[in-house]
Amino acid sequence: MVDLKSQYDDIKEIVNAGIQEVLDTTTYINGPKVHEFQKNLEQYLGVKHVIPCANGTDALQIAMMGLGLKPGDEVITADFTFAATVEVVALLGLVPVLVDVEEDSMNISVDAIKKAITPKTKAIVPVHLFGRAANMDAIMDLAKEHNLFVIEDNAQAIGANYTAANGTKTKVGAIGHIGATSFFPSKNLGCYGDGGAIFTNDDELAHTIRGIVNHGMYERYHHDVVGVNSRLDSIQAVVLNAKLPLLDKYNTARKNAAKAYNDAFSVNENIITPVFDIDGDDHVFHQYVMRITNGKRDALLTHLQEKGIPCAIYYPIPLHKQKAYADARYNDVDFPVTNMFADQVIALPMHTELGKDQIDFITSTVLEFVK
Ligand SMILES: *Cc1c(COP(=O)(O)O)cnc(C)c1O
Repeated sequence: MVDLKSQYDDIKEIVNAGIQEVLDTTTYINGPKVHEFQKNLEQYLGVKHVIPCANGTDALQIAMMGLGLKPGDEVITADFTFAATVEVVALLGLVPVLVDVEEDSMNISVDAIKKAITPKTKAIVPVHLFGRAANMDAIMDLAKEHNLFVIEDNAQAIGANYTAANGTKTKVGAIGHIGATSFFPSKNLGCYGDGGAIFTNDDELAHTIRGIVNHGMYERYHHDVVGVNSRLDSIQAVVLNAKLPLLDKYNTARKNAAKAYNDAFSVNENIITPVFDIDGDDHVFHQYVMRITNGKRDALLTHLQEKGIPCAIYYPIPLHKQKAYADARYNDVDFPVTNMFADQVIALPMHTELGKDQIDFITSTVLEFVK
């Protein structure tokens, strides 16, 4: 699904030299490279504070801890996403409230959020799924009206721009009260191990979070709050410093590959391709996820695998049907879009190194099969 080797070959010298420097200076954790990356990312995102941490799941958990969410508080998030989001909600003793998604954007449905808000609701976690921003204008308005926090799960959309109704462009992840991202190797900005970060424009919240990631310490060996240990390694910061200046180029390569897929599939009425620009919003195609509407999705998956074409289903089981997160509160008929997606979606290879020959082979193999 991804080609990380060719990407590494392009930045090999700078990455190897940086890693060597970390080894020579033995600044393995929280060294100058991490600080440098923090500053670089703050500048890139146009956000006041970046707090690096160990992975994207931690970033979400720490964001919720930083906002002071308490057991029993309700947190609304999408039914159609990776489980990390709902997992941390449950781990903190908060009450996950899963809602359906929109058919065109595949992102959390604003109407469904409205219906799910109760006096106990404290936060909304929009996930910018597959690289496309959720409807942040409407979500921020709702949050303001009901006095809720917005935590953006930006693990799949780093680098995407969001154009607000008034025309201002903001980097996704820097719009809500707090944003969380992952640098897992296959993400749009990936390191060579685990990594993550939290972003916010709120000085006080940033201060709180800097303590939480470091065992709740604001002064050495003074533990003021219950914290966690979540740090970014210097070696990962070297990789991220090398890749961040290339992120826009990487995202453009992804968009171009997605455009080529879309163009090729436009002739086929059984394939619904991802919509490119909804209200001018960027889509940075963490994944290229299309829908097969003639009931042959599973057969296509097997066919592509037989032809040696990597493919995957994101996500095969809606969260409200997962053993860990099923709950009597949920009614299956309230999730028509997620349920439909689980039966129809298929993801094709998506990365920065896809060439025309590869795309032609993939699209012609799909088109021969889906008739
Ligand atoms: C990858 C991902 C995460 C978790 O990130 P890790 O670094 O793997 O912990 C969270 N949310 C979404 C939507 C993701 O895709």
